[in-house]
Amino acid sequence: MTTVTMQGIREKVGRGERLTFEDGVFLYGAPLIEVGELANEVRERKNGNVAYWVSNRHLNYSNVCVLTCLFCAFARKPGEEGAYEYSLEEAFRKAEELKGTNATEIHIVGGLHPDLPWEYYTDLLRGIKARMPHLHLKAFTAVEIDFFARTFGKTVEQVLRELVEAGLDSLPGGGAEMFSERVRKKVCKFKITGDEWKSIHRAAHGLGLRSTATMLYGHIETPADCVDHMLQLRELQDETGGFTAFIPLLFHPENSLLSHIRKSSGLLDLRHIAVSRLLLDNFAHIKVYWIMTGTRVAQVALSFGADDMDGTVREEKITHMAGATSPQGLTEDDLMALIREARREPVQRDTVYRSLEAVHA
Ligand code: SF4
Repeated sequence: MTTVTMQGIREKVGRGERLTFEDGVFLYGAPLIEVGELANEVRERKNGNVAYWVSNRHLNYSNVCVLTCLFCAFARKPGEEGAYEYSLEEAFRKAEELKGTNATEIHIVGGLHPDLPWEYYTDLLRGIKARMPHLHLKAFTAVEIDFFARTFGKTVEQVLRELVEAGLDSLPGGGAEMFSERVRKKVCKFKITGDEWKSIHRAAHGLGLRSTATMLYGHIETPADCVDHMLQLRELQDETGGFTAFIPLLFHPENSLLSHIRKSSGLLDLRHIAVSRLLLDNFAHIKVYWIMTGTRVAQVALSFGADDMDGTVREEKITHMAGATSPQGLTEDDLMALIREARREPVQRDTVYRSLEAVHA
């Protein structure tokens, strides 16, 4: 058995050789600056000095959910204080706030609502598309897709096809949490399994949809769980090539059933960004989600492997109900200023990473 060393990993990365599970675990214990420096090298090889951003809006149509995931501060039971669901008209009004802006995308996710009919979801997409055909609709996590299939007696493929017909353009990567069965059993035991999450993304990619992939960290996971999670994603990406980006998501304990866990530090955020950049050699982009890390860590992350700072967001509920202190949204100017201050060149992208300049050329 060969001993893993930082020098050995550096040489492998230099040769473009794929890192192993053992390499990944080693990177979680190696000096952060060295890991970050190497990740930055790969980031610059893949994406130069560019840092992408998107002009988007989040639309969390309802927080009513039949499940209780321990890390979730967003969900409410039907009738519980703070429970809400947007009528279609309200949702359309929120979407229409984007008229006259540079926005290219709406990100739509919600809880697993026991009473909304199937037509609510298809009409939601259809109505937004009819009003603003140019907007890319990134909607419904694999967890919601699975719930729709079970609730409405359809196959996953039928659900996806009908949503595409209504206007769906891609899937967000939420709900992956941590694939480890041990972790899932403890923090979200009634949620779909990691294999089910992957199989829904595989089906989506098979229909030509692109998606993102996420990993929720900062709760009860170990470095080995994180490496295993990323390598499973790497394997699926080898198979389908359908993921646009990987997004490590920081767990916010406030108001959740895991509120006794101490919120992890910015150093851990940077570690996950850097390790993912090194392990996920077949992912073109690593995104730092500034809503969760805060803008300061996000700026530093642009030199630790991340090449994307997500977007303007405009209104965010999920992380803010868990005590996030970042703003609810950023203006395009603020986002670009943050990127420039981090000595990167801001490039506005669409959901599938075409630069808007190229799209309009
Ligand atoms: S994480 Fe999603 S599925 Fe779990 S309780 Fe929250 S809204 Fe429901």
